[in-house]
Amino acid sequence: MSKVLIIENAAIATVDVCDTEYERGYLVARDGLIDAVGAGAVPEGVKQNPADDVTIVDGTDCLLTPGLINTHHHLYQWVTRGLAQNEALFGWLTTLYPIWARIDEPSVGAAARGGLAWLAKTGCTTSADHHYVFPTHGGDLLAAEIDAAGTIGLRFHPTRGSMSRGRSQGGLPPDECVEQVDSILRASQDAIDRFHDPRFDSMVRIALAPCSPFSVTDELMRASAELARSNGVRLHTHLCETADEEEFCLATHGMTPVDYAESVGWLGDDVWFAHAVHLSDAAIKKMAATGTGAAHCPSSNARLGAGHAPVRSLLDAGAPVGLGVDGAASQESGMMVEELRQAMYTSRLRAGNSSAAETLGARDALRIGTIGGARNLGRQDEIGSLEPGKLADLALWDLSGLGHADIADPVGALVFGPPASVKLLAVGGRTVVRDGELVTADEATLARDCRAAARRLVSGR
Ligand code: ZN
Repeated sequence: MSKVLIIENAAIATVDVCDTEYERGYLVARDGLIDAVGAGAVPEGVKQNPADDVTIVDGTDCLLTPGLINTHHHLYQWVTRGLAQNEALFGWLTTLYPIWARIDEPSVGAAARGGLAWLAKTGCTTSADHHYVFPTHGGDLLAAEIDAAGTIGLRFHPTRGSMSRGRSQGGLPPDECVEQVDSILRASQDAIDRFHDPRFDSMVRIALAPCSPFSVTDELMRASAELARSNGVRLHTHLCETADEEEFCLATHGMTPVDYAESVGWLGDDVWFAHAVHLSDAAIKKMAATGTGAAHCPSSNARLGAGHAPVRSLLDAGAPVGLGVDGAASQESGMMVEELRQAMYTSRLRAGNSSAAETLGARDALRIGTIGGARNLGRQDEIGSLEPGKLADLALWDLSGLGHADIADPVGALVFGPPASVKLLAVGGRTVVRDGELVTADEATLARDCRAAARRLVSGR
């Protein structure tokens, strides 16, 4: 018996290579894979096959899109939100490092369940996570967040992150927050061996992710790249986030962050950088020529006053660009759907105009939030668009209410309008959100666990 999901009467934005849209159409998914997408009514016979277990969802006044893909997060920060509210990156980090030094399995588990549940409720079906704080007695933090992703039901790309340059070596983090390079490499191999699943419909894939130029050693960058490539896993780090970071790289390495990345083997189509705000034209060309991706995090960049990333230029040059909510301590809202609008607005603030040639439109924003993110994660053949043969990872947005009902164009309503409620979120055809409610866990319990973990971490008791 096949499990069949049918969505009918919905406006559909497939985000395929031609940006095909249907004013009113249908999607059929069978056993977790998209079987058919098209205009008009569902073909005869699909609904009535007695050999199938069929679920039918009416998408009237809704927009169906691929599930959003979040390519940069720090889930543990979900329980350290609202602190250092007026600091820029370096001041914000030095305030938070001592609190993060206390994280453990229970607090990371609670934070990951909360943060992932919130992502699901805001239209996200796949999320990366950049975890780079591993206190000596913190326990198995990667296992805690992978378990959380299994509970909530999202496709998950956690990274084994790391920091190896403490204050005594000229870095920013306190020495007690960093690890030795050999133990990082052992833990990285262990994470790949235990959790990485390279198969087509994988729910968990590992990447390696030394944190940022001011918290790592050259040795760690080179060795992580080598280890990742020998295991066929991807590489991720923060790069070109702030002007302070660029000054650090010039002072420490005598080169810009992108040149530094190149010097340690960190450009390539298996690498994606979080932020990519401060880029010269030459750096944009290098990223595009090598297929190096960017995770654009416009709300976090605004919160920390980091700047406006040159997303239009990156896209025009041919570099992969996805979206990220970033860690919730620098972006308390953490809503994937909000980043669509924020990305569009940020491009217009940067350009000082709203032209299609120089900025992002609603469809550009949807594209980077879906297929662009899939490219960052190396999964563009599996997710990121609604096409037969791809995984049934999708979001059905309810546009029937006061916030959206009279906006002329459904994609415009999703991106220009207020955050829409998710009528259905499915991952591999499995329902995670129905009628705006999480179905895989109790939201009130998640909130209570997060509040308790936050109080414990901040008070230090
Ligand atoms: Zn980050």
